[in-house]
Parts: sequence; C-alpha cells; structure tokens
Amino acid sequence: MIPIEALMIVIWSCLVAYVTWYATSAKCYAPITPQEARLLWKIHVQLAHCNGKRWRETRRGGKTVGFECECGYKHMQKRPLVGSLPSLQATSRKEKSVMFNKLHYSYD
Ligand SMILES: [Zn+2]
Repeated sequence: MIPIEALMIVIWSCLVAYVTWYATSAKCYAPITPQEARLLWKIHVQLAHCNGKRWRETRRGGKTVGFECECGYKHMQKRPLVGSLPSLQATSRKEKSVMFNKLHYSYD
C-alpha cells in the first residue's frame, strides 16, 4: 500500500509542474501588431538611448509577441496593450463616479 504522504508529493509535483508549464507557455504572451512592435522598439531606442537601427519581430505560434533589437535587447509582450490604455481606465473611473453620485444623491 502506498503511503498517503507519497501520494500527496506526487500530486503536488504534478501541480507545480503544471503551474510552471502554464506560466512559461506561449499562452501568457499577448499578440501585438507589427505596428505596435515597431512602436515598442522606438520607445526602447529612446528610453535606452540605443544606437540600434534594425530590429525584428519575435513570433510565437505565428503571432507577433515582441521584438528583438540590434543591440540584443529582447522584449516580449506579456499583457495585451489594450488593457493598459489610460483612456479605458479613465472610462471606468468615470463610471465609478456616476455610481457614486447615484448612491449619494438618489434621496431627494
Ligand atoms: Zn536596442
């Protein structure tokens, strides 16, 4: 009979392996357009004072997920660019304040 501790270790090992695989798999990379990759490269050139003149797209599963600069810098897009746009955050803030106003001024 297998001791329960041994069984637990096997289950935990599987879980850890799965989480590690999930965290490092291509699923985490957000596809971007070649234009976005070019924009990100231009930002890198300005921020890093990079002298690189050439770059190439980094692809995963047929989709652009980042870029590689001439200087050796590599960027992989982990989250969709759309989710980090300030305009979307501003919209949700506006909605929150509307909700706030409704909650506080609905008694008169
Ligand atoms: Zn560079």
